[in-house]
Amino acid sequence: MPRINCPHCKKEFVYRVVKDVPHFPFCSERCKLIDLGAWLDEEYRIEEPVSPEALNRIEKKGEGKENE
Ligand SMILES: [Zn+2]
Repeated sequence: MPRINCPHCKKEFVYRVVKDVPHFPFCSERCKLIDLGAWLDEEYRIEEPVSPEALNRIEKKGEGKENE
């Protein structure tokens, strides 16, 4: 099986095929979100879709806000 180092935490992990790993090339969903979150925060502020789950969370976060 191929091996890769997570770009975020540098942990090595193995995978069978890329499409089995929704968080590829990260070792986990968490690393992916943290890593994407870091650059989204700096540059784009969540304009690119990340994943349905992540978007869901983001939308929930904005719920308490007043209307624009
Ligand atoms: Zn990782």
